[in-house]
Amino acid sequence: MDELHYQVDLLNAMNSRLKADERMYRLVCSTSLNAIIYIDCKKGSVKTLANWDSFFPGLEINSVSDISKLYSYIEEPSVLSFRDLIHTSKANETVTEVFRMSDNKTYVEVEVRTVYDETGCLTDKVIRFKDVTKIHAQNDELAYMAYYDSNTGLINRNYFVSKLSNLIKKAEEENAVVSVMFIDLDGFHTINDGMGIVVGDEIIQIFGQLLKKYESENVLVSHFNMDIYCMAIYNPGGSLNANIVFHELKENIREPIRLTNGAETLISFCAGVADYPESASGPLELINCAEIVMFKAKDKGRGQIQYFDAPILKDFLVNVNIENKLKEAVFNENFTMNFQPQFFAEDKKLRGFEALIRWKDQNGEMISPSVFIPIAEKNGAIIPIGNFVIKESIRTFVQWKKRYDVDMILSINISAVQYRTDNFVESVLDIISTYEVDPGDIELEITESFLIEDFNDVMNKLEILREYGVRVSLDDFGTGYSSLSYLKGLPIDTLKIDKEFVDSISSDENARIILDTIIYMTKKLGFETIAEGVETKEQFDYLKSIGCDCIQGFYLAKPTDSAGIEKLLTDRTI
Ligand code: C2E
Ligand code: CA
Ligand code: CA
Repeated sequence: MDELHYQVDLLNAMNSRLKADERMYRLVCSTSLNAIIYIDCKKGSVKTLANWDSFFPGLEINSVSDISKLYSYIEEPSVLSFRDLIHTSKANETVTEVFRMSDNKTYVEVEVRTVYDETGCLTDKVIRFKDVTKIHAQNDELAYMAYYDSNTGLINRNYFVSKLSNLIKKAEEENAVVSVMFIDLDGFHTINDGMGIVVGDEIIQIFGQLLKKYESENVLVSHFNMDIYCMAIYNPGGSLNANIVFHELKENIREPIRLTNGAETLISFCAGVADYPESASGPLELINCAEIVMFKAKDKGRGQIQYFDAPILKDFLVNVNIENKLKEAVFNENFTMNFQPQFFAEDKKLRGFEALIRWKDQNGEMISPSVFIPIAEKNGAIIPIGNFVIKESIRTFVQWKKRYDVDMILSINISAVQYRTDNFVESVLDIISTYEVDPGDIELEITESFLIEDFNDVMNKLEILREYGVRVSLDDFGTGYSSLSYLKGLPIDTLKIDKEFVDSISSDENARIILDTIIYMTKKLGFETIAEGVETKEQFDYLKSIGCDCIQGFYLAKPTDSAGIEKLLTDRTI
């Protein structure tokens, strides 16, 4: 009896353990995100498990033949491969494939696993369905991001290069031309900094939409980054060419653009154009050439277009070469200073000197500051170069002052890039106090470019410097935006009349009248006048006769090194 009790207790215990296992198993299955079909191949029985109902609500699969009911859940074109997959009988292997379901939006990953016994008989098969819609969408997005720019919807740089490469191949076969137009918005950084990046993005988008209209089988339109776009036009000799696109686009943005925040803004752009096969033979070179000439277009001003040609490439290569050498020269401070005397017109007495930088490269070749200063302004090297100029010329000047005890002014050329830097005023004052020079002996020569941008900022800086006694002169008057009306109220002491004006004295009656007026008005405004580039006695006499205060030029003295100046000072004092 006891034995029987014992047997019953044992059976109950085993039963409840089985039930617990079964419960645990069901629980685990029900929390799974998969739907599973289990086939016991020996018995031929089929079971659906796990999250079956949420995948296939109401679908009952009780036998192997029922499995075909699944076909209607798979998108039509893939049914055959789905069928092949679930009937696979590859030994002890798991095979997986992704299918779109017939609702057209859900993606399922179907995994089939087969199990064989040691005699080679198929014993079990498990078919697992997993919802991968989210991952699929992410992959789609990744694929999109690999080819498109999300802000404009235009193709990105990489995709453009690959498509351009195809266009070039086609052009090679068909003897056609491909034009690449590199486009850069003007002053975009100012818009972005002033109006914020949201507005900046909107402008990039709006302009991108304008370009998108040209997209076709023969026209590629791409957004490279920020405010840079690129187009390629196949067979530009046809109905559409870069020039037409350029002018149509310009026309489209003639009126201010209305932004979602209600503000309005004007935009413009510059473009550089290079053609296959004339300018380059590969996509990257072609884009490079177009970019190079785009910078040339920028040099001309806003809203300009420039076509690639051989002299431009030569210029560019020369500049790149100079730029490379310049980096080394800056590092080694391979510069020296020359000084050109300035004289009072009245009695030819010395007024002072203009400091002019000189650079001899490793081959002993002199490179003119008119060539390398603009390059240094573009790549930022002008900052260390400018600091060298201020320090070195003041250091030399202070020595002369001590040795010769003459009243004189040192004029130093300052680039716009320099006086736009935040610490410009402090650094000048710092050098002045280090060398214990009288600020009234120092004159900074600036050009008119500050009249277009940063006007207030530069005015403030100059006013501070003038409060310390530093003099300011406006260089190259007559070449830029020069107009007498704006001179009034400018924080300057001296006006330097450009050589171009001086040159026209002997040839052009009208220019003489203008020069007369300038000198008359400038004196009325209380500024001192210096005429530059005076080469002849005739020019000198004329300038003196109309009341020009000072004269600088080869007629009286050429720029020379420090030793030359010391000789001049010695001769004057003995
Ligand atoms: P700039 O400031 O107008 O300097 C006057 C230029 O005219 C100098 O050329 C000078 O040598 C030249 N010159 C003077 N008198 C005559 C003359 O009678 N006839 C002719 N044909 N030329 C004359 P340079 O030294 O080659 O400088 C060219 C330009 O480079 C300067 O024009 C200035 O814009 C820039 N530069 C020179 N040195 C510096 C510098 O230290 N810093 C900066 N930022 N720019 C400099
Ligand atoms: Ca100057
Ligand atoms: Ca000048």
